[in-house]
Amino acid sequence: MPLLLGCIADDFTGATDLASMLVKHGMATVQVIGVPDGPLPEADAIVVALKSRTTPAAEAVAESLAAAEALLAAGAKQLFFKYCSTFDSTDAGNIGPVADALLKRLGAGFALACPAFPANGRSIYQGHLFAGAHLLNESGMENHPLTPMRDPNLVRVLGRQTEGSVGLVPFAVVEQGAHAIRDAMTRLAEGGRRYAIVDAVTDAHLVAIGEAAASHPLITGGSGIAMGLPANFRARGLLPLRPDAADLPPAKGFCAVVAGSCSRATLGQIGFARDHAPVLELDVLATPDAAALAAQALSWTEGKLNAETPVVIAASAPPEKVAALQAKVGRDAAGALVEHALAAVAQGLVARGVGRLVVAGGETSGAVVSALGVRQLRIGAEIDPGVPWTFAEPAGIHLALKSGNFGARDFFLKAFAHV
Ligand code: ADP
Repeated sequence: MPLLLGCIADDFTGATDLASMLVKHGMATVQVIGVPDGPLPEADAIVVALKSRTTPAAEAVAESLAAAEALLAAGAKQLFFKYCSTFDSTDAGNIGPVADALLKRLGAGFALACPAFPANGRSIYQGHLFAGAHLLNESGMENHPLTPMRDPNLVRVLGRQTEGSVGLVPFAVVEQGAHAIRDAMTRLAEGGRRYAIVDAVTDAHLVAIGEAAASHPLITGGSGIAMGLPANFRARGLLPLRPDAADLPPAKGFCAVVAGSCSRATLGQIGFARDHAPVLELDVLATPDAAALAAQALSWTEGKLNAETPVVIAASAPPEKVAALQAKVGRDAAGALVEHALAAVAQGLVARGVGRLVVAGGETSGAVVSALGVRQLRIGAEIDPGVPWTFAEPAGIHLALKSGNFGARDFFLKAFAHV
């Protein structure tokens, strides 16, 4: 299976989101954690998950180039730089500097930039990014702690981050389809533009943009724009039909859920699970000690582990409880304490025969994945939008990593009916 698409994602859950999109459109896809340090696995697409969204730009560039090198050495025919659908960045980067460096490495002079993801409410019109009905700078993103987005005009935003200049392929052209988009991009490139922000309001637009960019060495955008790319490889006879793209090895072992997200969605999912499965809510305030919490949780699981109904172990708490712990030990220490505890719980669960594990929370997932020594995730079918089952190696277990806000109320039960 020759590698076709080599992807570099600037954060962990964004990488999974992209990988899931590619699988859904028929590419066998593996997510690799961090810059690859050995031979790459067999796949149609590989997504290297970096943590480069908010690191210093020089670091993000160096890591992205190292990832690109590994992907190109493995034979990737096209590179994809994945960033957030809300274009999370600052005037210092990292989208512009990373894209500039990748273009230079590829000896290319032009790339499109399209973070639109209509299914999640992200659309671009006249270069302006909307989140739902709101312009980006009135969507709440203007208050983001790390990457406040105060200008909704992506032509200007990207323009401030790159040494090159930025043009626009507007809605009226995108509406006319792939040929018109391709012509417009060619004119912009010939006119000396390094990037084009491309408007997109519907999935049909994304598919047409993907088709128009079939010959581009580099594509940049959100996971939405990836939906048109598998068809390009199929049209060139490089990608066979893969009805088994989402197949994973058979699931084995006991079921469990570990939750560290305190989002409203996750709290609702824990509430739902209480009526259907054994749920342990850790009292972190009473026992502010990671090892002791983990020991408590693991002894509670005795006699409860089975292969049908999960045990649910949650540190998740409503805002007043979170605030109380933060007041007691400090905000960062509170987060780290809970992450250490849950990572140790996950390790203990796997040691006790858990082979199917759902983790709720982005940071929590990061802590669990590194505690389990996971190097890569083969991506399977989606449980709910944006959350696929994966097969984690070398751990050899099934993992579903749920970003806090994702998933329906019955997610913790439903997940195990899917694997
Ligand atoms: P999300 O995806 O919802 O943002 P994360 O796992 O990324 O979830 O972040 C949740 C953070 O809250 C983690 O750092 C976690 O350790 C912390 N946390 C979880 N439970 C508690 C709690 N009871 N008190 C304080 N912090 C908590």
